[in-house]
Amino acid sequence: MNPPLADTATCPPRARLLVVDDQPANIRLMHALFGEQHEVFMATDGLQALALCASAMPDLVLLDVDMPGMDGLSVCRQLRAAPETCAIPVIFVTGSHGVADESACWDAGCVDFVNKPVNARTLRNRVDAHLLLKRQADQLRTLAFTDGLTGLTNRRHFEDRLQRAWSSCMRDARPCAALMIDIDWFKRYNDRYGHQAGDACLRRVAGAMAEQLRRPEDVLARYGGEEFVCLLPGTGLAGAQRVAQALDAAVRSCAMPHAGADSGIVSISIGVAAMQPRQTNSGQALLAQADAQLYAAKSAGRGCWRAAGDEAAPAEA
Ligand code: GH3
Ligand code: MG
Ligand code: MG
Repeated sequence: MNPPLADTATCPPRARLLVVDDQPANIRLMHALFGEQHEVFMATDGLQALALCASAMPDLVLLDVDMPGMDGLSVCRQLRAAPETCAIPVIFVTGSHGVADESACWDAGCVDFVNKPVNARTLRNRVDAHLLLKRQADQLRTLAFTDGLTGLTNRRHFEDRLQRAWSSCMRDARPCAALMIDIDWFKRYNDRYGHQAGDACLRRVAGAMAEQLRRPEDVLARYGGEEFVCLLPGTGLAGAQRVAQALDAAVRSCAMPHAGADSGIVSISIGVAAMQPRQTNSGQALLAQADAQLYAAKSAGRGCWRAAGDEAAPAEA
């Protein structure tokens, strides 16, 4: 399910470039240089540039240093400091030529700079080189964060998302829920239908569950073999139980034959937990609680879900 590594060297794809300059003439020049090959966004001051970086997520920023209000160096420092924008490369386009000015650009965290007046060929080559690096880095990041079999988030990246979600929910006094999900009688499935069919089943279950999640903050990850975990930041126990019901129904509706299961089809067991994140608990405690509920669901006969949490309500399978 991972995208193939593109031949980025011979076939440069269309990228998103943000040009930031307070002089309209300079913006027009950049647009003439790059408008045909790339999607070009424009900002005429620092604040506008930061807002556009957060919303449009450009692949590269061409940033003027001297601007009224927030200067380019401050913009670059702020982009580097925020986890969402720290991977966006910045090339300064600067009219200052001194050693101290160049050092200030590097210190602010740029990947490169070119001097004004701009040599169009130099700028084009620098932009091409950094876009290629950015694209390759994006591809490596995607591979490193993705489970190869199912295309879901992998466990390592899930742990990272859990930490960040926990902190964010604690800051905003929002609840956080987790679902531990395990395919029932999966060893028997492999034994009966073969490992390749088992892999196909894992993919199908993963896809069916992923379709049920709608919020951008929700995460569905492959946690291990035939075990998945779903993180629902900002969701309390009642909402998490609704998601458990939807996942259960989605897998059931695939109606994948499983002669080794009493129901005759592939089913999942789910443990649901929700907590109000505080200093005294943790994301790991949330997962442990969801795991305990998963065991309760398995003991109750499989193909069902069990729940526990801050607003605990009796869980009906
Ligand atoms: P339970 O209902 O109690 O969960 O029983 P189970 O058989 O599902 O659980 P168990 O942990 O005994 O077996 C899990 C099986 O999942 C064993 C292992 O071979 C299989 N498995 C783990 N990872 C993969 C995988 O990537 N592909 C395939 N095909 N099978 C896998
Ligand atoms: Mg299992
Ligand atoms: Mg298991």
